[in-house]
Amino acid sequence: MSLEFQEYHTRKILNVHKHVDGPWFWGKYTAYPYVGCRSGCEFCYCRGNRYLGRRDPETFDSLIGVKVNAVERLQGEIFGLEPEIISVGDWQQPAEDKYKLSRGMLEVVLQIGFPLFIVERSPLLARDLDLLVEINKKSWVGVLFSISNLDPTLKRAFEPRSPGVKRRLGAMAKLAEAGIYVGTSMMPILPFVGDDERHLDELIRATKDHGGSCVLAGGLTMDGVQAERTLEAAKGFDPALEDHFRKLYRWPIDGKPQYGPPRVYNARIGLVVRELCEKHDLLDRMPRYVAPGLLEVNKRLAEGLFLKTYDLELEQAKDFRIWAYRKAAWTVDELGESILDIYNARGEAGLQELSNIGVGIASAITKWLERYVHEKH
Ligand code: SF4
Repeated sequence: MSLEFQEYHTRKILNVHKHVDGPWFWGKYTAYPYVGCRSGCEFCYCRGNRYLGRRDPETFDSLIGVKVNAVERLQGEIFGLEPEIISVGDWQQPAEDKYKLSRGMLEVVLQIGFPLFIVERSPLLARDLDLLVEINKKSWVGVLFSISNLDPTLKRAFEPRSPGVKRRLGAMAKLAEAGIYVGTSMMPILPFVGDDERHLDELIRATKDHGGSCVLAGGLTMDGVQAERTLEAAKGFDPALEDHFRKLYRWPIDGKPQYGPPRVYNARIGLVVRELCEKHDLLDRMPRYVAPGLLEVNKRLAEGLFLKTYDLELEQAKDFRIWAYRKAAWTVDELGESILDIYNARGEAGLQELSNIGVGIASAITKWLERYVHEKH
């Protein structure tokens, strides 16, 4: 298959998100120097209509857009921003051999001292270990390796050109030895063929054996061309899967699939993964890096509120309850003053004056703050 690079100057490299993506990767910023990916995994969500825009999705793995000014843009855009986590992913690919933009961007991150999170399917990341170690010394680095399962027959069917899974685990061990927080992003979990306890357990155990500390599980999403290609790959693996996939994604022959599997499915998988993580002494969420300082208490509390939304998802709680905690987490996370100062000055009534904090959540926050103060002294 041919490989072409399309160089261009981007006007903007850094996406500044309205909220951090708790309780997942905790990123406030994202930045990608390349568009398209040589690995061309069939299930890759970046093939979906909402990511590639007007570009021909069939060129996803043969034509790689290269933002040649990515490093300078990052340098120009990031100064003056709050030092929150920059989240990047799947940027180590053949284009990097030629352009070294990922490395250049890591140098900028090191220079400004921001914390960094990487989700990556390529062991090539280990060649930038020197920079990762330096960033980790200055602030923090977390890396999750994307691995759906350890089954070679599934890899051949769904991601034939992605780097070998053993090499990814090898890179994980190398980073762990260098003191970097590592784990597995078990995404996407392939329904019917990769979501049984044996497949999940195998990968969770391997994560533990390679120095990982957490495993985050996520289901397969279906969108446009990516959905069609994933279904074709599934049929190639086992023709009987078409029917199962169509039922799970409520996907009529002449229509579109639902974007994700039903909540009940996600909750079931999440609970199995939680149990297996406990068995192997791992976490099923990645702890948030929080820099010391006046607003540390807000960030820690927001982390707890975000984690509560995940627990409620697993319990299949009503949407309004989940949204109540999510919005409260946003409020606390984005407050410009210490929530502890507010509580000390005006008590629980002061908390209730904040937007999105009702009576029930104010009471939960009060208990949390009292515990926090107690543990600090
Ligand atoms: S390696 Fe990652 S970005 Fe590249 S095609 Fe596969 S899933 Fe997509």
